[in-house]
Amino acid sequence: NKQVVLKEFVVGAPKETDMEIRQGKVSLRAPTGVEGAIVVKNLYLSCDPYMRGRMRDYSDSYIPPFQPGSVIEGFGVAKVVDSTNPNFCVGDYITGLTGWEEYSTIVRTEQLRKIEVFDVPLSYHVGLLGMTGFTAYVGFYEICAPKKGDYVFVSAASGAVGQLVGQLAKLHGCYVVGSAGSAQKVDLLKNKLGFDEAFNYKEEPDLTEALRSYFPKGIDIYFDNVGGAMLDAALLNMRVHGRVAVCGMVSQHAVSDPKGISNLYTLVMKRIRMEGFIQSDYLHLFPKFLPTIIDLYKQGRIVYIEDMNEGLENGPAAFVGLFTGNNVGKQVVCVSRE
Ligand code: NDP
Repeated sequence: NKQVVLKEFVVGAPKETDMEIRQGKVSLRAPTGVEGAIVVKNLYLSCDPYMRGRMRDYSDSYIPPFQPGSVIEGFGVAKVVDSTNPNFCVGDYITGLTGWEEYSTIVRTEQLRKIEVFDVPLSYHVGLLGMTGFTAYVGFYEICAPKKGDYVFVSAASGAVGQLVGQLAKLHGCYVVGSAGSAQKVDLLKNKLGFDEAFNYKEEPDLTEALRSYFPKGIDIYFDNVGGAMLDAALLNMRVHGRVAVCGMVSQHAVSDPKGISNLYTLVMKRIRMEGFIQSDYLHLFPKFLPTIIDLYKQGRIVYIEDMNEGLENGPAAFVGLFTGNNVGKQVVCVSRE
């Protein structure tokens, strides 16, 4: 059973050498004496920036840290190979938290969802139809309070969350600008994902001025995936009664001495609402999210960009690439296609 193990707690930006591949033992039979366990063959694993948060020795997070020497855990799509659980049969496909390994024994099955939609690629259940798609959906509709005609700015806009936020905003009748870290991503935003405008933030000498030029009348909604200097620049460009949805701060993971945000006073001056959120607080909306996004996708009203790395052994590189912008679209690792 090939496995990806955390070697030690990570300091700064994650490196491939923070993880290692090892051969572990696995039983393909669900353990007896544990009620309702299943054994799964892992097919697709999701690479998510929040996993970096589980690689540090902190207990202040909403999710406990990984332990050095143990297998990394993340969202995945897997096939049931043995089960003592009446809710899951051999041959079922499931999605939920699993191990970064070829086979996993899962005891906490309450968090798993049986896959019942098969006319889209299975891997979409960790992206567009999974946690990241859901994050875009609840972040946009529940936190941003969008209105037709709003001026919307999305950072890390070509990524897993950002690409769907921008498309939902367009469908809502908003004007949408995205930032991303390469010419290729900017091209995708403008020509495939339907953003009105997009720019490469790495080539902008002054982010405040760049945003001013894209939003001469100001920003109504900033969907923040990156934090740091971009958040500060966006705050200066917000309109009165603007909303900032703080989804994540991927730029801050590698920074040992994060600089404070200087422009928070604009919250008062412009009566802005800035709100952080975690998608798992909104799971009651998942039954509404899933058919909505499936329908939009099947009708061709939204598209989805996925970046697939082949092989579990390439998992660490794929994960590390999230923090250098190597991924183009939702980063997934294929362990096995069936
Ligand atoms: P992405 O697919 O967007 O991948 C991460 C991207 O972040 C990279 O491709 C890169 O894009 C960008 N990035 C990396 N480093 C930096 C940096 N220093 N400055 C600016 N941009 C950087 O990831 P996700 O869509 O999965 O996640 C996006 C955000 O949403 C993250 O902050 C994540 O933590 C958050 N999140 C929050 C959830 C919640 O419930 N609140 C749930 C899921 C995700 P580029 O080339 O454009 O720089």
